[in-house]
Amino acid sequence: MKNKIAIYPGTFDPITLGHIDIVERSIKIFDKIIVVIGINSHKQCLFNEAERLDMTKHSLNHIDNIEVIINEGLTVDIAEKHNASTIIRGLRAISDFDYEFQIALTNRKIRYNIDTIFMLPDEKYTYLSSTIVREIAMFNENINSFVNDYVSTKLKEKFNMKI
Ligand code: ADP
Repeated sequence: MKNKIAIYPGTFDPITLGHIDIVERSIKIFDKIIVVIGINSHKQCLFNEAERLDMTKHSLNHIDNIEVIINEGLTVDIAEKHNASTIIRGLRAISDFDYEFQIALTNRKIRYNIDTIFMLPDEKYTYLSSTIVREIAMFNENINSFVNDYVSTKLKEKFNMKI
């Protein structure tokens, strides 16, 4: 039987419970998911690639058949290189739609054989983003309901938090 492989690209700065929820749902559909940590020249990240790789691996190590890698090129090239014909993206609200629609159609324009599917997280994560988590952590507020313990510790270390 053909292996169904998908990639889940993102910045993961840091990985949140919303991202984890998407991977947990997606692995029920695919045989293997490759989480691809992007190097985005337009985004100023709080965590460097090695830190994001480490936190993402830790956060997903309870799920089988997941690989986490750093992106060294175009998303569609990474997909092709790993024999993945599907790109997974999460959709939280209608506000995500314009941007996601544009990227998905652009990717399909350059690689017609690679499709994007959108996964909806549990409603309780629909408001959650890495940006919100970084901002809350920066102001020393409790982030335990947004990220797992490992990521929470890393955020506290970053901001020298005492909570
Ligand atoms: P990017 O910079 O590529 O948007 P992110 O790490 O912010 O990277 O997000 C990666 C993917 O995960 C995107 O498809 C995004 O919509 C989705 N995502 C982010 N946060 C959540 C969440 N709370 N619930 C579901 N999907 C999410």
